[in-house]
Amino acid sequence: MPNEKHPDVMDRLVSLCKRRGFIFQSSEIYGGTGSVWDYGPLGVELKKNIKDRWWHAMVRARDDIEGLDAAILMHPRVWEASGHVAGFVDPLVDCRNCKKRFRADDPRIKGEPGTPDAQCPSCGMKGTLSAPRQFNLMFKTYMGPVEDTASIVYLRPETAQGIYVNFVNVQQSTRQKIPFGIAQIGKAFRNEITPGNFIFRTREFEQMEMQFFVEPGTDMTWFEYWKEQRMQWHRGLGIDPARLRFHQHTPEELAHYARAAFDVQFDFGGTLGFQEIEGVHNRGDFDLSRHAEYSGKKLEYVDQPNNRRFTPYVVETSVGADRTTLAVLVNGYREESVPGESEGRTVLAIHPSLAPVKAGIFPLVKKDGMPEMAARIAADLRPHFPVFYDEAGAIGRRYRRQDEVGTPFCITVDGQSTSDNTVTIRDRDTLAQDRVSADQLRAALQERLAR
Ligand code: ATP
Repeated sequence: MPNEKHPDVMDRLVSLCKRRGFIFQSSEIYGGTGSVWDYGPLGVELKKNIKDRWWHAMVRARDDIEGLDAAILMHPRVWEASGHVAGFVDPLVDCRNCKKRFRADDPRIKGEPGTPDAQCPSCGMKGTLSAPRQFNLMFKTYMGPVEDTASIVYLRPETAQGIYVNFVNVQQSTRQKIPFGIAQIGKAFRNEITPGNFIFRTREFEQMEMQFFVEPGTDMTWFEYWKEQRMQWHRGLGIDPARLRFHQHTPEELAHYARAAFDVQFDFGGTLGFQEIEGVHNRGDFDLSRHAEYSGKKLEYVDQPNNRRFTPYVVETSVGADRTTLAVLVNGYREESVPGESEGRTVLAIHPSLAPVKAGIFPLVKKDGMPEMAARIAADLRPHFPVFYDEAGAIGRRYRRQDEVGTPFCITVDGQSTSDNTVTIRDRDTLAQDRVSADQLRAALQERLAR
């Protein structure tokens, strides 16, 4: 069903991202790697700004959450304890005719895979789909020079386990009291059967995860608190609140150990519609208890004043950095007409704090001292904000090029500038142009960026 409110912008976004250096297909010159993407000069800045906002909100601005950067490669027993070796599986079916692979629950499959009636969604043949078999999504590799079963290690499919196994290290070294959390940002790898939709589902991605350790019995209060905090954070990125909603996990969706789980969903538009960008989970004491059992080490909290020890419950918030980047891009992408001009424009109306370039600096024309003055302004601002100096082509085109990469302000040095030391600031969203003194420019930009 077409999404009336939010049409599909994915194809145009993919092309903009490539053209302007946000996101490229990995190993493109060799024909690309399946569902792996590289962030170009503007993309790396955008994603970094999103990660910085998360790190600031979750770690720096709080005294009850500590940061961590655990290794990607972990002891293989970690993944037995976590349940990933046995249970991190998707049901896979193959088509004997076209050799394509699908998740058995792919809604495009008609009929029961493995039966003569089942129809392949790709080649349309009937009776060629195999019965489902379980496929583990973890990437395997070998540690050390010998490739045998004893040396198998996994690329982590989530960052959370690095936090659980360091619970005691972090708690004892920081002397945090419960409730407190541990947060980290890092790469995760999943050998997804059906990745796709650009950077929505990829095989290598980044997660921003926080595990909050609480006293049993207070877990649902903290769960509600974190649900709200995380929704606020997404709104703070400038995402339209009408495109965000909660989805409560149904009993079938809920992991067997989970006490409650909600997803934050964003409306990606088109046929994709509302999809998960973050999960907030009440995991009880499952993770710490399992690691205590498998490692033989006590993973408890010692409540000294009350002379007791217990295994904390965990409330987890888990958000994808890439999926959030995609949500920010989709939310901000607009094609619109410009009053009084025949040519329309493409705008990435992203929050100024996320914009890779904060200001474009342009001399109106390449003469009469304007380039020199504009270059001086760019050099003065550069230590404080990412700015982009451009003197080539018509001014309208230069504005358009900044609009489509989300630059919130354009500073123009014109004929008047060289005589009275003023410049104009053009606002990407309102198109309003204000004249300010060049000496006040930094403060004026700072004030606008803080709004
Ligand atoms: P999905 O149901 O979409 O596969 P999930 O429920 O398995 O996601 P979690 O394990 O809860 O996801 O991971 C937390 C977050 O990590 C997700 O909300 C998403 O933002 C991100 N994420 C998970 N898998 C991928 C992936 N393959 N590519 C990009 N981001 C991902």
